[in-house]
Amino acid sequence: MTSLEELRKINARCIHCRACQYAYSNEPDREGDSEDFTGMLLSCPSGNLYGWEGYFNSGRMWITRAFLNNEIEPSQEMLEVIEACTTCGLCAEQCPNLIDTVDIIEELRAAIIETGVEPLKKHKRFAEMVGTEDMRNPYNEARSDRTKWAQEKHGEQIDKDLKIGYFVGCTGAYRQQHVADHTASILKKLGVDFTIVSEEVCCGSPILRTGQKPVFEDVMNKNLEIFKDFDLLLFSCAGCYKTIRNDYPRISGKQLPFKTRHTVEYVYDLLKAGKLKINKPYNEKITWHDPCHSVRHVGLVIEKEILNNSQNWLLDSRAAEKTKEEHYEISRVVLNAIPGLELKEMYRIKGDSFCCGAGGGVKAQFPDMALSTSKERLREAASTGADILMTSCPFCITNFNDGIKALKKEEEETGKDLSDVGSKLKVVELLEVLDELL
Ligand code: SF4
Ligand code: SF4
Repeated sequence: MTSLEELRKINARCIHCRACQYAYSNEPDREGDSEDFTGMLLSCPSGNLYGWEGYFNSGRMWITRAFLNNEIEPSQEMLEVIEACTTCGLCAEQCPNLIDTVDIIEELRAAIIETGVEPLKKHKRFAEMVGTEDMRNPYNEARSDRTKWAQEKHGEQIDKDLKIGYFVGCTGAYRQQHVADHTASILKKLGVDFTIVSEEVCCGSPILRTGQKPVFEDVMNKNLEIFKDFDLLLFSCAGCYKTIRNDYPRISGKQLPFKTRHTVEYVYDLLKAGKLKINKPYNEKITWHDPCHSVRHVGLVIEKEILNNSQNWLLDSRAAEKTKEEHYEISRVVLNAIPGLELKEMYRIKGDSFCCGAGGGVKAQFPDMALSTSKERLREAASTGADILMTSCPFCITNFNDGIKALKKEEEETGKDLSDVGSKLKVVELLEVLDELL
């Protein structure tokens, strides 16, 4: 048994109330009864699509209980149900009993695989690629090409003996290189003495999420060794940030030897300290998507750290909630510091934000779920009247662009105008915008 056993008592707190299936939404009533209607919406990407209890977190907590009590036989079918989850953490945010739902889901995946059940096909392939010494990424690319994106424009930043590192991540290094390029450019403009490390390997996020712990621990240990003498690591990828910030200490049982900050948070720190002013205007109407991994998951850990050290639960739970809210405000503080930018919020935001649909191994293994989730979020984004959907995660951007591509195709095939559900939205990375404005 893996450390799922260690989470037995936390899992036992589940009373099957099903509060974790819903999130607060400021959406007007879809029936049109009242423009002022606010309320709760079913907001689990997996449960919403498949409909069965086992696909909602509430069902998964009970499957976990049955597994721990040897009342259910682990199987490929069971693994498929448990893997069809983006690990978005919406359920953890909603649970009144503060259950670490995503940790339990990920440990259950690992425990099922540990009994001898084969990982799902696409997930297994991730682990093979990340586990291969001359690859160490889930994109089937050569490890020697990891810093190729930087050689021409940022060659002077590679492998310097410095204390601040930019952890690029596999998506930035091999797929969304413009995000890595803009991030390096911003850091230079801000005068940060940073280095890009060619030895860096995959953070392990897709491997951990899909329950393949031995390969995850291998890359985690490698990165911890490579970056052990750094003071600070900066990130542009929400997944890498969450994995190294939250999961490395939890799984290794040791505090990180360096501090961590997402680039958006770094810009926020400078704004708050009065060291940065954005003067150039950005005259656009935008809506903002909170990436689950850098926003909600980090907020949840901030809350948990305060509560774990609490001597007075009543006072500290308020402080924890407030500190978490402040974390959810970070990107909004940055957006509001941009002159000309008009922010139109979606109905589900911050801790209640609806996932883009890509995470947790879903995009590779369950493309239909990734697409339908992306479309639901695009519909919500379009309903704000914004022209631009802005976020700060390369993986969210990929999935939203795939959703828009599908809507455009549908428009061509049916002749219908789908702009009201998002076909005309432009997806933009906040880091790109900041780079252009600074
Ligand atoms: S995980 Fe929490 S919110 Fe969900 S059913 Fe269990 S107790 Fe209720
Ligand atoms: S993590 Fe997200 S997708 Fe998974 S069960 Fe919870 S709400 Fe649903």
